[in-house]
Amino acid sequence: MRYYPTMGLEIHAELLTKSKVFCSCSAEFGGEPNTRCCPVCSGLPGTLPVLNRRAVEYIIKAGYVMNCDISRFTKWDRKNYFYPDLPKAYQISQMPRPVCLDGHVDIKVNDEDKTIRINRIHLEEDAGKLTHEGRISLADYNRCGIPLIEIVTEPDFHSAEEVVAFFEKIKLLLLYAGICDCKMEQGSIRCDVNISIAPEGSEQLGTRTELKNLNSLKAIAKAIEAEIARQAEMLDNGGEIVQETRRFNEAAMETLAMRSKEDAHDYRYFPDPDIPPIIFTEEELADIRATLPEMPEQRMARYRTAYGISENDAVIIVSDKRVSDFFDEAVDGCKSPKNVASYLVGEFMRRVNLGEIDLDVLKFSGKDFARLVEYLYSDKLSQNNAKLILGEMAQHGGSPETIADEQELWIKEDTEQLSAVIDEIIASNPKASEQYRSGDQKVFGFFMGQANKALKGAASPKAIQEQLIAKLRR
Ligand code: ZN
Ligand code: MN
Repeated sequence: MRYYPTMGLEIHAELLTKSKVFCSCSAEFGGEPNTRCCPVCSGLPGTLPVLNRRAVEYIIKAGYVMNCDISRFTKWDRKNYFYPDLPKAYQISQMPRPVCLDGHVDIKVNDEDKTIRINRIHLEEDAGKLTHEGRISLADYNRCGIPLIEIVTEPDFHSAEEVVAFFEKIKLLLLYAGICDCKMEQGSIRCDVNISIAPEGSEQLGTRTELKNLNSLKAIAKAIEAEIARQAEMLDNGGEIVQETRRFNEAAMETLAMRSKEDAHDYRYFPDPDIPPIIFTEEELADIRATLPEMPEQRMARYRTAYGISENDAVIIVSDKRVSDFFDEAVDGCKSPKNVASYLVGEFMRRVNLGEIDLDVLKFSGKDFARLVEYLYSDKLSQNNAKLILGEMAQHGGSPETIADEQELWIKEDTEQLSAVIDEIIASNPKASEQYRSGDQKVFGFFMGQANKALKGAASPKAIQEQLIAKLRR
């Protein structure tokens, strides 16, 4: 039987606030275990949480960039469950009145546009972290109380590709909005996938399972494929899907049952009496909206209209905020943004992909890069030498001028040297010279190669060509 998969996502993203959501402990990643805790976030009785204003601003921003309605009235609820990573035995979250409702985000998959609906985004607190060592489990509560937004989508996904494209788009939006650092490897953004399959053409959805703890884009794609295959095999053999939470074992490429899936009523949600509800005024919301920075689509539009950059180049530049920020710095006050864009998308990105340029620790500025490109396009540096200089800048830093001076890489107007080198090449290759004179144009490439080799970029290709033609014709 052929099956059609349907998926929905729950994405948890930690907000980039300085302090936690209900106390003043540091919300920074890491730290020695249990050194960033206080009576509030370790759940001691008698303490009172105080809501972090910045966290509320950030979730509203998230709502705006995902085209949500922002609730004018919002409140917090307790989600009760016992687990050793949650010392209070309840999580402060939001149930019936989340901050954001009914949004949508557009994605592109295989050149096709698709809209994914967002059901809600709510603000809650993170739990601690457990480490298991043999029969001992260790609890670190540093992460307890770090503000989290939970983005819940409608079941609008039908392939792993769509899920991955959406997840990447969400990461991009959060990064541009400056509200999450999206470091999957540090757990600051996590993705759970609800997944069911139904016979093709069937109107009804199948029973869903939830895949948890997917910590890379690769794991998300592989886990979805493994779970679709598992469910299909189960149904083909007359079995039934059980509603449950499963985790993915990447080594074995299979999903494993963790626990039977709970429903909302199992958590005995009730309004948190410690956190007052919030009523937003139109003015407050407008002020927060006004602080949103330029988002990727706006940047793309600016690159295309202000600089005349191709759509393809613009897409590549904005899809990494670090590259886009670098480009903005480079073209500020620069005469030829288009040349900067094409050298960036070409040679610069090639080295990024090879790992020669590390975008997190760039050793040169956008301005240095823009000047290098200008020298290249105004025939002050040869292609090869520009590449050489970029390599040097990537490795050791430094300005293009210093490197070109030190290693004598400039194209020189020294026609005497050029003339001498060309005389020499012609003299030592009498046969090829004869061939050229008798009308065989093909050997011209050979002479160009020889001259380039001897001059090492000290003359422009145009000057070499002119001299060669003049001298060979004599
Ligand atoms: Zn604390
Ligand atoms: Mn949650």
